[in-house]
Amino acid sequence: MLAQRMSSLSRWATTAAGDSVTIAGAAGHQIIDLATGDVAIAPPSSVRDGAIIAVSTGMDRYTDPIGLASLRQAVAERLSAESGIDWNTEDIVITSGAKEALLEVLFAVLNPGDEVIIIRPCWPTFPAQVLLAGAMPVFVDARGPRYIPDVTAIRAAVTPRTKAIIINSPNNPTGAVYDRTTLQRIGELAINTQLWIISDESYSNFVFSVVRRHVSIVSAHPSVRSRTIVLKAFAKELSITGWRLGYFAAPTEIVFAARELQSHTTATPNVVAQLAVLHHLQISDGSFERNLHQRLAAARNTGLHILSDLRDVAPPRADGSFFFYLDLSRLLSALSIDGPIRCANDVARLLLEEANVGCVAGGAFGDANGLRVSFSAPPDLLEIGLKRIVETLNSLRTRQSIA
Ligand code: PMP
Repeated sequence: MLAQRMSSLSRWATTAAGDSVTIAGAAGHQIIDLATGDVAIAPPSSVRDGAIIAVSTGMDRYTDPIGLASLRQAVAERLSAESGIDWNTEDIVITSGAKEALLEVLFAVLNPGDEVIIIRPCWPTFPAQVLLAGAMPVFVDARGPRYIPDVTAIRAAVTPRTKAIIINSPNNPTGAVYDRTTLQRIGELAINTQLWIISDESYSNFVFSVVRRHVSIVSAHPSVRSRTIVLKAFAKELSITGWRLGYFAAPTEIVFAARELQSHTTATPNVVAQLAVLHHLQISDGSFERNLHQRLAAARNTGLHILSDLRDVAPPRADGSFFFYLDLSRLLSALSIDGPIRCANDVARLLLEEANVGCVAGGAFGDANGLRVSFSAPPDLLEIGLKRIVETLNSLRTRQSIA
């Protein structure tokens, strides 16, 4: 029999949507995949060249468990430039992706029975890893159209067992970009109630709103620094999701704990990936990141234009990350409850089976009424996929009207 922790994980499976898209594809359907959170472009040549140099010069040994000092320094410099806060080599831990970073941080700070506040809709890995660490996720719902959490509701969720809060801005799945005031208020609450803040800023390069910029909570409220861990990924910004490299910036005790944990688990992040990203950070002029941003900004504009034809569904804000998050509650409540479409899961299934478009139903993020549509797909496919979504959603009321 498997360990109990495995059953707590099944509720938060991240692969279900991808699996159904793959299965439908394997059955011979030409599926337009707007489920995956992966940008369909090649990584920058600087990253690829760096990997080739690493392999051809025989850089193939273990490194320090928390990564090469040269990479940690380059990351610290870049993070300092982005956030306006001084980060040093000693503050940085390189990991096998942001997922490993999160797990190490949770293992370092949580005891069994501790509670962790998570803003919902949420990336499923947050509650799954909190459970893996033996603690309890406590959800606070953020509501559309902006999906910015109400800090009073967060305060009401704090109990003597609360150990940490996880925030994620820019947000997967909602695209929310938290404003400075909200971040300051969350920071103040964390100080007053002595919480760790785990701030996942993996999508910081992807902000498209004209009125919002990405603000790290450490920049918004510098006094939280001694209780904050900033998580970041190279996966999306360098289009290397499979290379598995991420990092976090944290107070010394967490960095020490991560070195212990990493030395007994993955031993060291992949050295070829470390050297590839280091090469990029050393020689890049930022043009890859700028081009990627431009491409996604164009996809977002085209997408918002197409989605403005939706009836009964408010247009998404899509301020950041690369997801349109549709709130289907108004549409669902206008449908007859006797019909086959009752929740976002049913809508996602219909879109896959009838329109051949893959999306992720909000249930994956703890929200029965949401639908996540990625705009990272190739532009031509995105356009066709979104038009099919609009057509299908607009047809639902006639097909399943209230008697
Ligand atoms: N954080 C969030 C909120 C994400 O959605 C993702 C990717 N799905 C990541 C981090 C990236 O994790 P990794 O570096 O492990 O691929």
